[in-house]
Parts: sequence; structure tokens; C-alpha cells
Amino acid sequence: MTPCYSLVIPIYNEAEILYTLYQRINGLLASLDETAEVIFINDGSKDNSLEIIRELRKKDGRIGYINLARNFGHQIAVTAGLQYARGSAVIVMDADLQDPPEVIPELIKKWKQGYQVVYAQRTIRHKEVLYKRFAAYLYYRILQQLSDIDIPADTGDFCLLDHKVVEVLNSMPERNRYIRGLRTWVGFKQVAVPFERDPRFAGERKYTFGKLVGLAFNGIFSFSKVPLRISTFLGLVSATVALIMACLIFYWRFFQPSSQFTGFATILIAVFFLGAVQLISVGILGEYIGRIYEEVKGRPLFTMSEIEGVGQPAKRLERIEPVQSYSNVE
Ligand code: UDP
Ligand code: MG
Repeated sequence: MTPCYSLVIPIYNEAEILYTLYQRINGLLASLDETAEVIFINDGSKDNSLEIIRELRKKDGRIGYINLARNFGHQIAVTAGLQYARGSAVIVMDADLQDPPEVIPELIKKWKQGYQVVYAQRTIRHKEVLYKRFAAYLYYRILQQLSDIDIPADTGDFCLLDHKVVEVLNSMPERNRYIRGLRTWVGFKQVAVPFERDPRFAGERKYTFGKLVGLAFNGIFSFSKVPLRISTFLGLVSATVALIMACLIFYWRFFQPSSQFTGFATILIAVFFLGAVQLISVGILGEYIGRIYEEVKGRPLFTMSEIEGVGQPAKRLERIEPVQSYSNVE
């Protein structure tokens, strides 16, 4: 039987949390009015998360899992889960209980009111260090300024998606996936549900600094062309500076010949300045070219080594069907 709700939960080294997570989910599922499935995506965990997931699967038939063949990263793990979710509504949440399962009934309530994308928006981040809160605050504001679409601030991947939206997301082949951006891009009726983000239940955060910077870059480079304009802008600025300097040197050379201005230091500064501008521009170009390179290789988004208790992948929308011609209708 097709379940009404699918819970998609990526897992990377979460052995300490899995039993508690299961208890909390179990409590939630008991309170729901309809059937549900839980899809764990083991993202190449190095601890015994997979064994625990297998054990939970044996105990509870509503649980299914996908074992990715290596660590592909959070966004790809969620993508894999979305491709196999069969529910009419699909809920994406983190494993570490920072996204409290108790908020899910509120998401469902909004879905039943007719919203197709219901995303949870953090009002408070409990026990997070000040610099991280500030960095997140700043990042979301910059992203909003730069991006072509209006990605809501302070939202993570915790959300409910109608199956229609999931189908559209599954039909989008891009590999630098920034799900909260794609989710905004698709449109449909969207609404925010405010919630207080709890601290991680146990264990270390699995997003290393490098992974976090990668995610932040994905947000900007996948949804904005403004950085390309920044290099044009930097080029214009350095051209203006060079022009002013040329005028100044001309002036000093002819009107103040005693001036010491034309020296070694000046040349060094100019060389370094121009070098920096060029390298920044090449770096920005490189970000886009690297992404094009990743896309054209056309490799699958992920590989799986085990799959258990999950249904057929959701239907892929190959492309929007053309309008039918009725000329041969009798
Ligand atoms: N995660 C994953 N693959 C990774 C890193 C993280 O599947 O490479 C999962 C992790 O198990 C958790 C979720 O993504 O369920 C969010 O990770 P984390 O809590 O470390 O991120 P944070 O909440 O600190 O941003
Ligand atoms: Mg977390």
C-alpha cells in the first residue's frame, strides 16, 4: 500500500542517536492519522549506523533504507531519499533531532490547507555559538541579495513537500544541489512554519567547515550570476585606479620633478593589486566552469550498495508534455 507520508532522513555517523530518533519518530507516527514510511539514507557512515538501521528495519516494517556506496554529502543523501519516497507528502528532516519531529504535525496541517511546500523557519537557535549564528545570519542576507530567487532566510532542509513538488525536484538533474534553493525555485504554494531549533541531541556535527563552505558556495553560485559581474566591476575599478595613477604621475613628472613618487614600492603595489584582481576574476570564472564540467560529465548523482524496504523510484518528469493536438480526435 502506498503510504501517505514519507520521512526522508539522511544519516552520517549517527549511531549514538538512532535509537532515540526512532523512539521520537515512533511517537510521532502513532499520532498521525495516516500511514507513513521512514526512509533512512546511510551516507557512507563509518560507525555502526547501518547495522542499527538494519536492526530497526527488522523490528518495524515501516522503515526502509538506502545504503549509499560512499559518503556523498547531505544534499545528495536527501536527493536519493526523495527519489524513492512514495508518500503523498514527503518530510525531509535531519537525524540529530535538531529538527524536532513534534513540528511535523504543524507542517502537515499546512499541507492539508493546500500548501505544497511547507518549510520550517528557525526563530531561535538554541545553544549555538555566537559567531556561527552571526555567520548564518549574514550568509542568508547576502544570498538573498545576490540570488535570482527569493530564498527565505533562516531555513534549512527541514520541510514538507507535496509529491508533485518532489516529482519536479527529481526531474532536475543538476548535481550541485542546494535543496533549499531548488525548493524555492520550483514555485508552487509555499509557506513557512516558525520553530525553535534545538541543539544536536548527541555526537559531533557532521558538517565539517569545508563541507559548510561548499554548501554556502553552492547556494551562491547555483542561484546567482552576480559574482561574474563582480569581476567585471573589479576590472573597472582597477582600470579607474590605473588611469588616476597615470594622471598623477604625469602631473608629478612635469610639474613637480623633485617628487619621489615614482618608486619601487608604487610599482609593487600596482602589480599586486592587479594580480589580485585577475586571480579573483579567474577564481570566480573557475567556480562556474568547474560546475559546468561537473554537469557535462553526466555521472549519476549517487551510487547505492544496498536498498531495502523502499518502493520504486518516484516517476521522473522527463519534460513538460507539449499541448496535445486534437486534430485527429473523432
Ligand atoms: N549528513 C549526511 N552526510 C554528510 C553530513 C551530514 O548525511 O556528509 C547528515 C547528518 O547525519 C544529519 C544531517 O545531515 O542527519 C545534518 O548534519 P549536521 O547535523 O551535522 O548539520 P548541522 O545541523 O550542524 O548543520
Ligand atoms: Mg544538525
